[in-house]
Amino acid sequence: MSLVVMKFGGSSVADAEKIKRVASRVMERRKKGDKVVVVVSAPGDMTDDLEAMAEKITDNPHEREMDMLLATGEQVSIALLSMAINHHGMEAVSFTGPQAGFFADLSHTRARIKHIRPVKVMKALAKGQIVIVAGFQALNAKRDIVTLGRGGSDLSAVALAVAVKADVCEIYTDVKGVYTTDPRIVPEARKITQISYDEMLELAGAGAQVMQARSIEVGKKYAMPIHVRSTFSHETGTMIRTEVSNMEEVVVSGVAYDKNQAKITIRNVPDRPGVAAKMFGALADKGVNVDMIIQSSPIQGHNDISFTVPGASSKKTMAVLEKQQKSLGAKGIVCTEHMAKVSVVGVGMRSHPGVAAKFFKALADGKINIDMISTSEIKVACVVKQSDGEKAVRLAHKAFKLHVAKSKGQRAKRNP
Ligand code: ADP
Ligand code: ASP
Ligand code: MG
Repeated sequence: MSLVVMKFGGSSVADAEKIKRVASRVMERRKKGDKVVVVVSAPGDMTDDLEAMAEKITDNPHEREMDMLLATGEQVSIALLSMAINHHGMEAVSFTGPQAGFFADLSHTRARIKHIRPVKVMKALAKGQIVIVAGFQALNAKRDIVTLGRGGSDLSAVALAVAVKADVCEIYTDVKGVYTTDPRIVPEARKITQISYDEMLELAGAGAQVMQARSIEVGKKYAMPIHVRSTFSHETGTMIRTEVSNMEEVVVSGVAYDKNQAKITIRNVPDRPGVAAKMFGALADKGVNVDMIIQSSPIQGHNDISFTVPGASSKKTMAVLEKQQKSLGAKGIVCTEHMAKVSVVGVGMRSHPGVAAKFFKALADGKINIDMISTSEIKVACVVKQSDGEKAVRLAHKAFKLHVAKSKGQRAKRNP
């Protein structure tokens, strides 16, 4: 008998029929004798719809109230799923994040989990009940409800799996696993059989929506095996796990795409200590997530600093910097919207040179101009115009032959 955490994303619980299918899947597992904890997201696009509704009321909602609003979506799913299971005579009980023992820090809309005390969850499991927990939400020290950032139900699931000492955390979604790239952009993308936490972390951080990046950090820290698989089939999906030596045979595992970035350039700032600290400090205080940063070499004691932010943060970023412009001594601030980031990721890059050159050549052959470049030990990322983004993904995917079945010992399996 195992203890399993099964997480179902919004698309898996989008309507009554889908909720009934999820209920059958969960009951099937319980009937096999496993103990089951289920984590669910809000149905379909409910979180987006709630956000849109708030925008119609005000363009500057208090973050506390935003959390109160967004947390309601998951509560709809837990109650309905629990009812669907109870309807078949099996015992299920639903808990909100706070009832399940999720405690987080004081930040709203992207709170960090501090600890989980799953007392009610463990008691219900001991009674043989199926436990259904709302993802994405927690309680803070002021006893207010907070949410964990978009896609945060993945984090709830992995963290709860660690807290209840589950054998595995299964992430059920609308694709059959983690693919070599988003199958919506490249239909020939292949399902990856196994991938290291580090690669998945880079892919997720670079925009691969299938897993939320912070959930992978937690999975890695506690070595929790994560199985990403389809809600609608029983096929084995992708195992995210500790790196093993044969993983390095694959130079590039996947291509990630972040379709909405903005590039901000601060022109002609004095080249002296403290300028970058002041600028990025002010942005961090306002919760702006800065991604790629490039500083030009100084000319006559001045340089340009460019960086990227998520497209949705561009207005906030400009507002913060415009206030700072005078004290920074900058000559101007320019925002270029509609940029995209394409990243190639793979642990094999550590031992195989030439990945960056091959990636750049693929883009050059497609006449795509690269605006910014950044690298890590296992990633090369390029910022390009949004209108070139999907083409760049396809070219990179082809250049690294990710559509071709790998030989024995390697990991990609054909996208069925
Ligand atoms: P859920 O609602 O289950 O949380 P998400 O929409 O958050 O699902 O994530 C699943 C989606 O992620 C897929 O439908 C797919 O289009 C997208 N995706 C992006 N990159 C990848 C990738 N490398 N592998 C699989 N899916 C990906
Ligand atoms: N419902 C939340 C969101 O859409 C959390 C999640 O789905 O993981 O971001
Ligand atoms: Mg998701």
